[in-house]
Amino acid sequence: MKRFSTIVSILIILGVIYWSFADLKPTLNSSKSITETDFSIDNALKHLKNISKEAHYVGSKEHKKVQNYIVSELQKMGFETEIQTQTAINKKWFAATTAENIIAKLKGTDPGKALMLLTHYDSNPHSSLGASDAGSGVITILEGLRAFIAKDEPHKNDIVVLISDAEELGLLGAQAFVDTHSWTKDIGLVLNFEARGSGGPSYMLMETNGKNSKLLSEFLATKPNFPAANSLMYAIYKKLPNDTDLTVFREDANINGFNFAFIGDHFDYHTAQDSYERLDRETLLHQADYFTTSLNYFSNSDITDLNSDEDFVYVNFPFIKLITYPFSWVFPMVLLCGILFLVLLFFGISLNKIDVKGILKGFIPFLISLILCGGVSFGLWKFLLIIHPQYNDILQGFTYNGYEYIVAFVFLNLWMLFTIYKRTAKEEKPTNLLIAPIFFWLILNFIISAYLKGSGFFIIPVICALFSLAIAVLLNLKDKSKRILCTLLSIPTLYIFAPLVKMFPVGLGLKTLFISAVFIVLLFGLMLLSFHQKKSFWTQKWTGFLALVFFGIATYNSGFSIDNKKPNSLVYVQNSDNETAYFGTYNTTFDRYTKQIFKGDFTKGEIENAETKSKYNTRFKYAKKTNYKAIPSSKITTELDTVIGEKRFLELTITPQRKINKLEFLTKNKLLLYQFKVNDVLVNNGKKYSLKNGTFLVYHLGNNDTELTLSFSVDLDQKLALILNEVSYDLLSNKRFNLKPRTKDMMPMPFVTNDAIIISKKLDL
Ligand SMILES: [Zn+2]
Repeated sequence: MKRFSTIVSILIILGVIYWSFADLKPTLNSSKSITETDFSIDNALKHLKNISKEAHYVGSKEHKKVQNYIVSELQKMGFETEIQTQTAINKKWFAATTAENIIAKLKGTDPGKALMLLTHYDSNPHSSLGASDAGSGVITILEGLRAFIAKDEPHKNDIVVLISDAEELGLLGAQAFVDTHSWTKDIGLVLNFEARGSGGPSYMLMETNGKNSKLLSEFLATKPNFPAANSLMYAIYKKLPNDTDLTVFREDANINGFNFAFIGDHFDYHTAQDSYERLDRETLLHQADYFTTSLNYFSNSDITDLNSDEDFVYVNFPFIKLITYPFSWVFPMVLLCGILFLVLLFFGISLNKIDVKGILKGFIPFLISLILCGGVSFGLWKFLLIIHPQYNDILQGFTYNGYEYIVAFVFLNLWMLFTIYKRTAKEEKPTNLLIAPIFFWLILNFIISAYLKGSGFFIIPVICALFSLAIAVLLNLKDKSKRILCTLLSIPTLYIFAPLVKMFPVGLGLKTLFISAVFIVLLFGLMLLSFHQKKSFWTQKWTGFLALVFFGIATYNSGFSIDNKKPNSLVYVQNSDNETAYFGTYNTTFDRYTKQIFKGDFTKGEIENAETKSKYNTRFKYAKKTNYKAIPSSKITTELDTVIGEKRFLELTITPQRKINKLEFLTKNKLLLYQFKVNDVLVNNGKKYSLKNGTFLVYHLGNNDTELTLSFSVDLDQKLALILNEVSYDLLSNKRFNLKPRTKDMMPMPFVTNDAIIISKKLDL
């Protein structure tokens, strides 16, 4: 009979976990018939096929083709389109280009503030096909607008469409729009569609300089069918350097907005595998659902002022989609729970349901579990990186078998928990054991109420556990009924936290598996009345067995294949000043492709002056000296070099002598520029521009750029030790190198300057 109640409990738990994931995302239902006014996934995918055939980063041939395709599709719907061509500079990353934004407007009947629909059409240089990032956004807007217009219903607000350019180079299209377009002042709200992988649920992330309550209530008023959002995620998002186009609108124009972005299958992000085939169709449906519901609502609602002076906690919750309450409730809720806990302790001890000695004993397994599970998960991942060094070549930090590892680690941690509790607390009353975890959660919530109110919903598991404790203390139930009742009471806890156990390693990389481990210990602790067993230990054996099975599957899938390509890299770096040349690679492990250069003797470490910028600060892992090929570098013309008063004024024109994709300007010493202009556009609003050393400008050349003009003034005694790196992505097509191409189980490594010829030389000033 005891085993029966355990089995029922496990079935409930598995069901809730399934439910919590199913609620986050729609499922594809091909039999559902749709009409002219519905979003058609087939129409959307037709567009996707057209715009994700090849890489279409700024400066590539395909970039123009994709731009033309989008423009013609908008015109087919009756839009007048505008291409805004404007040089823009990112102030944080020193990146610049001349962006070409696609802009259109749908007039409203009674326009107040305008609603903006935003995504970007450029793909990441140089190998990403950009199907998810952000082709998924482009097609969501194109097909969503078609369906919206087909309804032929009047709407109040103007709708501005911005399919921005050069997002991947530093949010430059958005910057260009916000800095110079006259419509910026009319925008009341922005809906931005983005991707950081190729699957998984799409999360709603708010961007606001103010507080979130009005935005949140308006978002709920759009009645999304699958709102996936929580206030903890937003708190974390704010702390990461993952800015989106929307960030520019918020920071520079104080405009509020919603990001709808998916982050699953991160290993595809910015790679040649970000393809038509790999975009998860259900994820696309999820974007379509957000688009349709929010466009229907915000095209008619009042969006003139969505600011508020109150922040809300929010998280997905059974049956009601999102539970929300003000930050001001967070502390009183914790306090109330603390008091209730003390009252139940008092009753428990007086009624002889719990005893002080047993409570203290309960801390031992709980603390051991926290330390061991967290520590083992942290260390084991480090160990796996040593025995599978090829994982280091996946810079996203999430391997192809990452999901298998997540499951394996979950079972491993459960096995450890069952083992620890069996060894140290087998004879203890489960009610005694429940006290330590509740106490710990309460402390955690007191800290949260002071420092991270966004995760205020961590009080919900405490409330559920206090109900369980009350049942154990106040009612005289049989063990098996207690077990099932307590499992039922933990439904909200499981529903909220099961997705979080997965979300951390998916969102922040497998190095954060230890955070999931800590979550599992915390959840297990609160569910001890469901889990604790005195005699039978089959759950321990099963979790151990399943951990082994999943580690086995993950190990079996630890290699690369045509569907899970190995990222690799080769770069030629030429120093024109001392006439030396090297090959560099960012790879930790070699393969047939990299071995065509890296054989014989080569050195570990980077190449001088080749410190090209990359998202994860990846430097060359190995370098090998090679023949100097004397590839010509740009012509530098000094148009102006004059002294006025205490300052020296310089104007330079850089004219590339071959197809160049980007020009990187580095300084070897401290540099202070006054009135720095790139192609006649003022950097930093004309204010001083200073930096210690390193890159001070990366200019990405578009298809129409034949030269670049820089002008600036400096102090007379300013030493100018500038270096120019000229980068072209043509190493493989350049006949002088004669490199064998990659096989189908490989792809260019993303996030680094790759397949590139880099010509480095001093600027003689
Ligand atoms: Zn993107």
